Amino acid sequence: MYSPNFDYYRARSVAEAQQLLAAHPGAKLLAGGHSLVPLMKLRLAAPSAVVDIGRVQELRGIARQGGAIRIGALTTHAELAASADLRSAAPAPGVYMLPWCSDPSQMKDPAVRKRYEDGPVAILTVMRNGMPNMGKYLGMWFLFCLLVSFVTSYVARHSLDPGAYGMEVLRLTGTVAFIGYGFGYVQDSIWKAVPWANSLRGILDAAIYALVTGLVFRFFWPAA
Ligand SMILES: Cc1cc2nc3c(=O)[nH]c(=O)nc-3n(C[C@H](O)[C@H](O)[C@H](O)COP(=O)(O)OP(=O)(O)OC[C@H]3O[C@@H](n4cnc5c(N)ncnc54)[C@H](O)[C@@H]3O)c2cc1C
Repeated sequence: MYSPNFDYYRARSVAEAQQLLAAHPGAKLLAGGHSLVPLMKLRLAAPSAVVDIGRVQELRGIARQGGAIRIGALTTHAELAASADLRSAAPAPGVYMLPWCSDPSQMKDPAVRKRYEDGPVAILTVMRNGMPNMGKYLGMWFLFCLLVSFVTSYVARHSLDPGAYGMEVLRLTGTVAFIGYGFGYVQDSIWKAVPWANSLRGILDAAIYALVTGLVFRFFWPAA
């Protein structure tokens, strides 16, 4: 099926497109034509005039403007995907809250409240580019274990005497280590929306680490 007759105009600038639209009431803009042309062919749209903006250069491209990025209406997906400017403007590593409010007072704004109600509401951690470095993570975990063990021994040293009863050593050192390994998970679920099921698994791990820590202290605790 062919579309009804229409006048075709090609604009060379935004200003010219605006003039053409003003001069031809009911005219439709034509960008890529992927939606408008099929609609006209199916006679679901029948504009008397079409203003083609497909070659208006000022509507193309991606440009940095201070802290913002300007994306022209005619920029293609391929240009966006290949843009170094867009990639370099990606959020820096850190923790981000969505929807974003730069000031807590914005939470009263009805538009912001609607964004919260409609979602998604998220806490997003952006990491540095690159493959996960397991060696680094394991090294940091080892240092954390040393720290928990040091704090545990500090508390035990100032609470128990040499020759203390074995179960007493196990109970005290295990409890301190459990706090060190496990209580952070509870805070994550309270403040960072980490599901409680995840935290409970972490707390179970913490109980195992605490038991091992307690047993080590129990067996190596000095005699009187
Ligand atoms: C085979 C096929 C597959 C498709 N697949 C998808 C798909 O997977 N996902 C998807 O989202 N869409 C899809 N579409 C739809 C189409 O690709 C999109 O709607 C596309 O965004 C239309 O862009 P266009 O530049 O071709 O718009 P046009 O058809 O030129 O214009 C569409 C409408 O927007 C107006 N308009 C154009 N530019 C401007 C402007 N700068 N300012 C104000 N109004 C303007 C026009 O007047 C018109 O009413 C598909 C279409 C086809 C034919």
